Amino acid sequence: MHQKAGKNGPSFKEDATMRFDDIIIGGGLSGLLCGISLAESGRKCLIVSQGQSTLNFSSGALDFLKTKEGESFEEALERLPQEHPYKKIAPEKCFLLRAEVAGLLDRAGIGTFSDIRRNHWRITPLGVLSQTWLSLEEMAHFDKEALPEKVLIVNISGFLDFSPSLLASGLAEQGVRSEICEVSVRETDTARANSSEFRSVNLARVLDGYAASRLAEAVNGKIGDCDFILLPAVFGLESDTAAVRFLQMLDKPAALVPTMNPSVPGIRLQYLLKKRFKELGGTFLAGDTACDGIVEEGKMTALRTRAQGNSLFEAENFVFAGGSFFSEGLIAGKDEIYEPVLGLDVDYSGSHGDWFSPDVFEEQPYMSFGLRTDADFRVSLKGRTLENAYAAGQILSGAAPFRNGCLGGLSAITALRVASMIKNE
Ligand SMILES: Cc1cc2nc3c(=O)[nH]c(=O)nc-3n(C[C@H](O)[C@H](O)[C@H](O)COP(=O)(O)OP(=O)(O)OC[C@H]3O[C@@H](n4cnc5c(N)ncnc54)[C@H](O)[C@@H]3O)c2cc1C
Repeated sequence: MHQKAGKNGPSFKEDATMRFDDIIIGGGLSGLLCGISLAESGRKCLIVSQGQSTLNFSSGALDFLKTKEGESFEEALERLPQEHPYKKIAPEKCFLLRAEVAGLLDRAGIGTFSDIRRNHWRITPLGVLSQTWLSLEEMAHFDKEALPEKVLIVNISGFLDFSPSLLASGLAEQGVRSEICEVSVRETDTARANSSEFRSVNLARVLDGYAASRLAEAVNGKIGDCDFILLPAVFGLESDTAAVRFLQMLDKPAALVPTMNPSVPGIRLQYLLKKRFKELGGTFLAGDTACDGIVEEGKMTALRTRAQGNSLFEAENFVFAGGSFFSEGLIAGKDEIYEPVLGLDVDYSGSHGDWFSPDVFEEQPYMSFGLRTDADFRVSLKGRTLENAYAAGQILSGAAPFRNGCLGGLSAITALRVASMIKNE
C-alpha cells in the first residue's frame, strides 16, 4: 500500500530525495532537545521549523510539575491521571531524564539551577513566587524560607517592559521590603532616543563590556542597606556571559527577573540549543513548514516541506514536536481539531463551544487536546499506530499543562524519552 496523507498538499513528484536517520517537525524546546540527544549519539538528524517557538516568551525557567507543600516530584507524579504523558514514563526513568536534561543544557553552554527531586521558587514580573523545576542560573530563584529581607529593585531609565512597582508590591506580600531605583548609561540613553526600539532585546545588544561595567557602578552606588538586588533580564542574547559578568560586578548578591516579551533568556536558550544541534552535525531547516508526508504499511517513510516543493525527506524515524495551537502543531477548525501534516489521530472531545471555559482563569479544555500516542509516544493515523513516528512536547494530549504546572519540563522530558526510544535505550 502506498498511502499519501495530508490535508493541504497537492500530490507530489519526487524531484530530489534527502535521507536522514531521524526527522523532527518543530524546532522549539522539545524538537531541539530531542535532536541534540539523537545527534549526540551520532545520528544524522533534520529539524524542520516554520517559525519562532514559545521559548521566545519563556520566563527563563522550565516548569516540570506543580507540587504540594513539602511534596516530592515522585509523590506528585503518583497523583496524575492515567492519561497524562508522564504516566507513560516509569518514575525511576523520569528521575534519570530530569538529570539528563540538566546535563544536556550544560553541554550546550546553558548554566542552570535545579533540584532533581523537588521544585524551587522563582519570581514572576509581578513579584509572585511561582514554583518551578529548573531556572537559568542568573534568574532569581529562592528557597521560600531564605528570602532576602530588603531588595533593591533596579530598572533601566525609561524601560517600560519591566515594572518595579508591581514587583515591589508582590514582594511586600511575601514580607520582603524593597527600594526602587533607576539607572542609565550613555548606551541605554542612546537606545531610548527611539522609544519603539527600547525593548529587552535592544538593551541586551548594548549592555555588554564597558557599558555593563558602568551600569554596575551606577547600581553599586544605590545599594544602601539592601541585601539583594533584582534587575530586568536584559543581558546576553547569545551566551550568559554578559549576565553572569554583570551580576559578579555588583557589591551584593543579585539576580534577574523576567521582563515583558520578548524574553532575552528564552531567545538565548533557543539560540544556544540550535547552535549545539548544528555543531553536532544536525541540519536545521528554518522558516520552512512540514506540510505533507508518505505513510506505507504502518510506517512513515517521507516528509515534504512547503519551501522544498516536491523534494522528499526520508528517514527511519519521525518526531512530531510542533507544539500546541499557539505554534500550529495543532489546528482548531470550526468543529474539528486536526494535526496539519498527516492528519494524525487527535484526542479531543465535544464541539467548538465545549472547548473553552468562560472563566479565563480556569484550565481550558482545549489545553488537554493533542496527539494520541501509545505507551511509547508513537502516534497513530486512522486508528493504526505508526511504528516509527513519535510525538513530544506540548503537542501531546492529556497534560492539562496549566493545572498541572507541566510546561517546558514536559517538553524536555518527553523529548528525551522519545530520543531514548529511538536509540533503543
Ligand atoms: C506565551 C507562552 C509563555 C510560556 N512560558 C513558559 C515558561 O516560562 N516556562 C515554561 O516551562 N513553559 C512556558 N511555556 C510553555 C511552553 O509551551 C513550553 O515551555 C515549551 O517551550 C514548548 O516547547 P515545544 O517544543 O513543545 O513547542 P513550541 O515551543 O510551541 O515549538 C514548536 C515549534 O514547532 C514549529 N512548527 C509547528 N508546526 C510546524 C510544521 N508543520 N512545520 C515546521 N515547524 C512547525 C513551530 O513554529 C515552533 O517553532 C510558555 C508558553 C507560552 C505560549
